[in-house]
Order: sequence, then C-alpha cells, then structure tokens
Amino acid sequence: MIKTKLPVIILRNMVLLPLGELKLEIENEEDKEIIYNAVNKHNGYCLLVTPKYITSDNLNTADLPNIGVIGKITSNIVLPNEHIRINIRGINRADIFEYVQKENILDAIIGPVKIEEISEEENDAALRVIKKEFAAYVNVMPNISNMIISKINEENSLEKITDIIVNLLPLSFQNKYQFLVTTNPVLRGNYLIDLLVKEEKVERLEKNIENDLQKELDKSQKEFILREKLNVIKKELGDKDSKEEDIDEIRKKINELDAPKNIIDRLNKEVNRFETIPFTSPEYTITKNYIDTLLSIPFGEYTLDEENLDSIKEVLDENHNGLENIKERILEYISVKKLTNSLTSPIICLVGPPGVGKTSLAYSIAKALNRNFVKISVGGVSDENEITGHRKTYVGAMPGRIISSIIKAKSMNPLFLIDEIDKMGKGIQGDPAAAMLEVLDKEQNKTFSDNYIEEGIDLSNVMFVLTANNIEDIPYALQDRLEIIELSSYTEFEKIDIVKNHLFDILLKEHGLSKELVTISESSIKYIISNYTKEAGVRELRRVLSTILRKIAKEQVNNQKKINITSKEVKKYLGKEKYNSINNEDHEPGVVNGLGYTPFGGVLLPIETNFYDGTGKIILTGSLGDVMKESASVALGYVKSNLKEFKINKKLLEENDLHINALEGATKKDGPSAGVTLTTAIISSLTGKKVSHKIAMTGEITLKGKVLKIGGLKEKVIGAYNQGVDTIFIPKTNENDLDEIPNEIKKKVDFILVDNYKDIYNYIFKGE
Ligand code: ADP
Repeated sequence: MIKTKLPVIILRNMVLLPLGELKLEIENEEDKEIIYNAVNKHNGYCLLVTPKYITSDNLNTADLPNIGVIGKITSNIVLPNEHIRINIRGINRADIFEYVQKENILDAIIGPVKIEEISEEENDAALRVIKKEFAAYVNVMPNISNMIISKINEENSLEKITDIIVNLLPLSFQNKYQFLVTTNPVLRGNYLIDLLVKEEKVERLEKNIENDLQKELDKSQKEFILREKLNVIKKELGDKDSKEEDIDEIRKKINELDAPKNIIDRLNKEVNRFETIPFTSPEYTITKNYIDTLLSIPFGEYTLDEENLDSIKEVLDENHNGLENIKERILEYISVKKLTNSLTSPIICLVGPPGVGKTSLAYSIAKALNRNFVKISVGGVSDENEITGHRKTYVGAMPGRIISSIIKAKSMNPLFLIDEIDKMGKGIQGDPAAAMLEVLDKEQNKTFSDNYIEEGIDLSNVMFVLTANNIEDIPYALQDRLEIIELSSYTEFEKIDIVKNHLFDILLKEHGLSKELVTISESSIKYIISNYTKEAGVRELRRVLSTILRKIAKEQVNNQKKINITSKEVKKYLGKEKYNSINNEDHEPGVVNGLGYTPFGGVLLPIETNFYDGTGKIILTGSLGDVMKESASVALGYVKSNLKEFKINKKLLEENDLHINALEGATKKDGPSAGVTLTTAIISSLTGKKVSHKIAMTGEITLKGKVLKIGGLKEKVIGAYNQGVDTIFIPKTNENDLDEIPNEIKKKVDFILVDNYKDIYNYIFKGE
C-alpha cells in the first residue's frame, strides 16, 4: 500500500468533500506556515481533517479523525492585510494512519481508503435512483444550473456522483460530516437518496404554502375588483342592497356623532372592516352589533344641572318628609361639588335599613338636579364581567352593566344609583369590588374600559350614588372614597308623619281617589303601623295602605261616598291583625328585654332563663354566636361571685342546670352587648323576681361587673321605643350617642346611664 505524508489543515465546523471547493482566509502565522509548507514542499497538496467535536482550542491528535480529504491548493494570494486567501479543491478521501507533530507543523501519514467491491448492478441501480430523485429535487429547485445537471446525468461512478450532489445540497454540518466519514459508496448512495427525498418534500411544502398565500391575495384582489364593478353597476341602476344602506346609515351617524377621537377612529375602522365581511360570516353580526352598541352610547349628550339650591331643596322636600339633616348634607355635597369641581370629591353612599327612602332619595336628587336616573343592583354579583362586560369573542357578548346603564340613561352625566353595594359577592370569576373601584375612582373612570367596548369611555361626569344596609359589609377599599350618609329607622311618630304629609296623598292620587272623599286619622295610621307592619322603614306600610285604597277604589267606582278609615275599616280591608308589635304582656321571672340591631333596624331581643334539676351545668340556646356564648359565661361568673349580695342560694346553682334562651330563635345573635341582659335574666330567674316588660337594657359586662360601651345605640333605641319600652339602661360611655336620638323618644323614654352592673341591680331588684 502506498503511504505518504502530507501537512494537515484542521477545519473547524466545516467539511470539504471530494470534488468540492473551499475558500479560506488565513491570518494566523502557524497556519500560514502550513500553507507555505504544502505549496512549496508538497506541490500544493495537503490533508484536510474535520474533528467531529471540538472540545478545546488546543486540539490533541487523539481528538482528530482517522479519515481526511486530500486537498489541492489551487490558488493562494497575499492580501493587503497580510492574510492569505487560498482556494482548495477536494480530491479524495484518505485513511489516516498516524499524525506526526514536529514543532508547529502537524503532518499525517496517509494511504488510500479501502473500498469494498460492489457489483455493477448494485452500482447502476443506486445510480438510477439517485438520478431520478435528483431530477425530482431539481424540479422544485429550479436554480441549479443546467451544466451541473448534465454533468450529473453523465456521471457513472457512484463514488463520484454522491460527492458531487452532496456538495450542491444545503446540508447541515452533521449531515456533511456523515458523508465524509461514510467511505462505502453504496451506503453513501442510500443516505443521499433519503436526503434527496426529504429535501424535495420540504421544498415542495414551502412552495405550496407560498402558492396558497399568493392565491389568497389574488382572490381578494379579484373580489375587490368585482365588488367595485358591482357597485358601479348598482349605481347605474339606482339599486342598493340593505348592507350598503346600513353602511351609509352608520357612516352618517358617525359623522353626526359628538364622540371623542378614539371612538370615531374605532367606529371608522370597524365600518371599513364590516364592509369586507360577507353576510354569511359569523363576524358579520358580531361586528354589526358592536357598531350599533358603540353608536348607542349617548356621547356628547349632557343634561344641564340645576344650580339653584332653593329649587333643589324644594324638590327634595316635595318627595321626602323630614330627613332634614340628610337633605342638608346632600345640599352641602352638591354645593361643594359645584364650587370645587373637584375630581376627588367622595361619592355619596346612603346607608340604612330597607324602606327608609334611600332609593327614592337618590331618585329625588336626580330629579332635583335635572339629571337622568339609572339604577343597578350589585347585590349577589360575584362575576367581575357582569360589571365590566365580556370580550367580543365570547358568544353573545355584551357590554357590562355600567355601560348598558349609560346607554339606558341617554346622557353621559346621569345620576347612577348602585344599590346594595354591601351585598356584592366575591367569586371565582374575579373580584367585582375591584371592578367597582375602577368605576368609582375619578382618576380611572375618565377612561373606563369595558371588555366588550375595548375603548376608554369617560364616566367622570356621572354622579354615582351608592346604597347599603350595613357599613361594615362595604368592601374596605371602597369605604374611604365614600361620603357615608346614614339614614336610620323611623320612629312610629315619624312614620305617622310620613303617611300624613306625603304617602297618603301620593297613594290617593295613584288610586284615583280624592282627599275630600277619603281620610285617615292619626290613630288609624298608628293602629296599622303596630298591627300590620314590622319594619324599620315604610315600604310595608306603603303596601298595606295601597291594599286598603285599592279596595276602597273598587267600592267607589259605582258608589262615591265619603269614607274615614278607622281601625274597623282597617280590619275589614286587611283582615286579622298580623303582628302584635307592642309588647304589652307582663314578663315572668327570668325574662328580660335586650336590644338587638338587625339589617332591618333595631329590635327587642328578650332573654329567658330557667333552671331545673341538674348538676350546675349551663345550657345555651337561641342561635347564639361564640361571643354571645362567652358573654353568658361571664355573666354567670359575675353572678356566682356576688351570690350573697344578690341574695341567691348557692345550692340552687349546684343542684340545678341553668338554661338560657334567646327568643326570636330565627335571628342569629352575636356580640357582647347582651351582657347586662344575661346577668339580669339569671338573677331574675334565681331570685324569682320579675323585671318589667317596659324595661330594656344593653351593655357589655366584665367579670367584675363593669358595664362597657356598645354600638348601634340609635337603631336599638328606636326599635325598643317602637315596641313600647319606656326605660332603657345604657352604658355611661354611650352618653354622647344620646344626641342622635330623636327628641320625641327622649321625651317619652327614661335613659339610665350605668357604669357598673350594681346600678342596674339597685334600680330593678333592690327596691322590692
Ligand atoms: P330603600 O331604598 O331605603 O329601601 P325606598 O327608597 O325604596 O327605600 O323607600 C320605600 C318607600 O318609602 C318609597 O316609596 C319612598 O318614597 C317611601 N319613603 C321612605 N322614606 C320616606 C320619607 N322620609 N318621606 C316620604 N316617603 C318616604
């Protein structure tokens, strides 16, 4: 075997195959040395080797392959920057037997590659397939020159043809390397066939995609031209279809619309799009609905605010009896808002039990200010999207409740009532309270974004008014932006006043009756209130009065006569008394009135206590919360530590179980304010001394008998008063709250301020 020695050029991430060509620019001195060596001593021949992996800059001969390609340097030019540019042509593969490193020069001892014998048939068959696949490839790759194609067609050596073709293909380093080291031409041929088939497929797919794109473009251009032609024809014939009419109408409306630029731009964009959407596409209705919705928002529509405070007050008085403080605060709010025109002015939130006039007051404010009125209730809303709308992509999407209401309001500055803000839920579908914050925040609501509308809508001129039953349940983040105006339960006297001065007249009118024919006395109103209603407000009262008047109206149709509604008529029209809200039954020992505060106003919550044979246990019933249960234990503890003073027999407690029950079992009760009531009930039961049903009390108690402050006094007192109580014990620390109690009640009820339980004991039990 002929062996020879050639200088080695190492190629990094490059492969030179036989019959291929390579251009290199050499800048480093060592490499230049190799080139000179090859040119001067080896007739321009050298060996090109490509390591499969390059692990470091300093290659070890162990990292080098045992196959290389003999190359011939066909030109070498020294460039002005002293780099050498060389051109090398690949000649043949060579087996490498040994690398010889001498100083900076690396040589290799090489010999010809051993090739296994292949039969002529094998050679021809492989050649044929390769040529066929190559032709198919050329079909999709038309930029391969004819010269090369004919050269390949004439080539009959499998050895050569594989290398010629591989040199033409855009292959990765890994693929080329694979060809380099595969010395068997049949294997190389098979490998090439696979590659050609794959490349052809890829090329064809690419072409198809390009063709499809081109076709789409051509189609839409064609459609456009046809459409334009159709338009011209229709114009000639004076014919128009309904979509075009729609579009004309929409464009006209856009021109007349006094909306901000973003809206006009959006509308124009949508109409242009709408024009191109075919009638059969689902997009057609979606886009049309969107345009219609946007056009129905009352952009540019504003009502002029009434500025005269006297006129505003007049309207408020007309609709609501009393509520002087509330009306005063509303007037102040309006004037401050007008004067400062401040963006940060808080939002009115009317808080109070149902039926006390929150909604109707908001309506009156709207009427007084000459603003349009809209109302939504957010009670139970737990899906944020209900407020901010669903995206257009959602089936049946619509704007949220805010924008829908603005559309209903027909002006951009209505009075917008948001009812039951304290009953808003929080669900998996986002946090509606957060959405509400965005709606109400003046900084953000200038560009309120509804998911459906997608464009900022200015809500900053809307006057929002909120209502709630319970301040504590209003989302915390909202609370400090609100101007809370509390409306409390009405006293019986106030209710009578409302009926006398407002409701009765309104209801007469509603039923087509006249004041001259139908009258009602104060005592009848009182009778109705205490026997047919049980509420903090006057909603039920209104309903009951309506029932009476409806029946009278029916009777009067054919036979008009004067009628004065007395308790006899009331019974006749309403049937049996429904409630006995005045507690006028004497209490037995162990029963004492406490005071409670429910969302429906203040109520009497009697506690009853009894004892029976047992082992000194305490039993608690009547829907008591944990705090109230603890309060009962504290009360018993306090009584036990003062048995002597309260004249209670110790044995009684040891040989009996004490049962404490809160009446009105359906109402959930909690909080510490029943402390004094529980104590009094225990003492009353164990001593057998009665406590008058006209007495009520409220206050937390400590183990040492101190009486501590409680909340919600006003509502509790009104509730107790409405139920006939005339003496109320309250903690001394609540003294200031008495200022809020209506004078009517202060005149009729004795308030006894206590700071130690002994004051109550002395008053109730000592005297007897
Ligand atoms: P809320 O919103 O607090 O539940 P509404 O505003 O619905 O109560 O009031 C219920 C009814 O009671 C309405 O018809 C309202 O006009 C009437 N009403 C409440 N308070 C007064 C009042 N002070 N004067 C006259 N009518 C009143």
